[in-house]
Amino acid sequence: MSPSKVSTLDFEKFYNTVNAQLRGSKNIHHGVNPATGQELWDVPIASDQDLNDAVDAAQKAFPAWRDTPFQKRKETLLKFCDLFNEHTEEFTTLLCKESGKPRKFAATEIGGVVGFIQYHTTLEIPEEKFEDDEKTVYTEYTPLGVCGGIIPWNFPLILSVGKIAPALLTGNAIIIKPSPFTPYTGLKIVELMQQIFPPGLVQAVGGNNEIGAAMTTHPGIAKISFTGSIATGKKVMEASASTLKRVTLELGGNDASIILPDVDIKKVAPEVVMGAFQNSGQVCVATKRIYIHESIYKDFLAEMVNFTKTIKVGSPEDGDNLLGPIQNSMQYEKVKGFFADSKAKGYKFAVGEPEISANNKGFFIQPTIIDNPPNDSRIIAEEPFGPIVPTQPWSDLEEVIARANDTLTGLGACVWGGDVEKATKVARRLEAGSVFVNSWEKPTPQAIFGGHKESGIGGEWGKTGLLAFMNAHVIHVYKN
Ligand code: NAD
Repeated sequence: MSPSKVSTLDFEKFYNTVNAQLRGSKNIHHGVNPATGQELWDVPIASDQDLNDAVDAAQKAFPAWRDTPFQKRKETLLKFCDLFNEHTEEFTTLLCKESGKPRKFAATEIGGVVGFIQYHTTLEIPEEKFEDDEKTVYTEYTPLGVCGGIIPWNFPLILSVGKIAPALLTGNAIIIKPSPFTPYTGLKIVELMQQIFPPGLVQAVGGNNEIGAAMTTHPGIAKISFTGSIATGKKVMEASASTLKRVTLELGGNDASIILPDVDIKKVAPEVVMGAFQNSGQVCVATKRIYIHESIYKDFLAEMVNFTKTIKVGSPEDGDNLLGPIQNSMQYEKVKGFFADSKAKGYKFAVGEPEISANNKGFFIQPTIIDNPPNDSRIIAEEPFGPIVPTQPWSDLEEVIARANDTLTGLGACVWGGDVEKATKVARRLEAGSVFVNSWEKPTPQAIFGGHKESGIGGEWGKTGLLAFMNAHVIHVYKN
């Protein structure tokens, strides 16, 4: 298909955006509505030529944007927020279709777009000045150039914006590659951005994993901002080494929640359940292991079970549903593997059934709690990325902290306790990038987000996160 110019937005046609042109492709793929199993609209698979053209256009767009005053860049981003606000309903419907999220949660993700951008426009790029008798040293930061953003399928829109906004704010150009499972909202927001930003500054190349891999070796791309699985993150880092790209890796986790004995059981148990099952467990920082003090284990688990039984699972448009389906068939099969393993090993299902009956075409799974499986079980040791979570009792604080930290991952964690000071002390000892006290995991634009250990390298979002899109540029001025 020949390139065409951006005009009005059609929410049923999807293109790659290269140098402000909408491009089709002779190679097409499509997403699947996970609530119905139906194929969604065609999506063009970007070619190597599309990527090369996008990099060329980004390199051309970069210098003028780098030299645009910071304040003006902020104003341009805010202007985009106004434009986006005119389309929130269409984006919400699109997100429901591609992800299966209940409409109210899809609306929260859509609302987060403007919230995220607006907060970032309140930030300043840090700078330092050191002076002694001999010299003045200015520590400043300059943009990297052309950045690539590679996106997973669980929060396709907010995770795209979480890369685009800081990259543009700090003066870079950026090319986004959405997940092949959820390409629609990412491609559409980049298309919409063409009405505000100069050609080549923000572009999208959709397609399969290969186009992501091509980005990681492309000599014209200075940085890869990657969010996805640990296994792919390692490949991204390895491939990026060939051109010494900067990389930020936001990867998977196996978050522990520690429940101290002095919690208000009725209040906290449903919250802990929400931490585990939010977005059907398809959250990098979902609670994936729950450690409950032995003195309250039975009662706390009973409250968790009671609340879990009230959770409705179903299609996005049914307003009462708290959870939607698993986003794709591959992940559905993976999560079913945790059920099969738990059943085969004879673990106790406190709530939920070992057999997942396919009662319609969607990828639905009832939220499930496994009561006290052993430490070396799959459900404790691995990230299911679905609505199944284990609980275990603990009696010794030192021991449970060690158990929580006994993992190669370190993305998030939670501590729940009546004595906030004591809970916060425990939080400081957990080896994770973001630890939440008396809340389930709620990453926020106000703070850098990143993982320890194999959960990632570096981090983005918030003031410190801006530096991930910049080079330190230190000017040493010696006195005459
Ligand atoms: P994934 O690693 O399979 O895919 C992520 C993206 O990488 C997709 O766009 C994919 O097409 C692309 N890709 C695949 N192979 C590539 C390669 N060789 N080179 C470059 N790009 C390649 O992950 P997923 O299944 O989409 O997402 C789920 C995972 O993401 C979970 O492990 C979850 O914990 C993690 N995640 C982490 C965060 C975070 O911020 N830390 C946020 C959301 C999800």
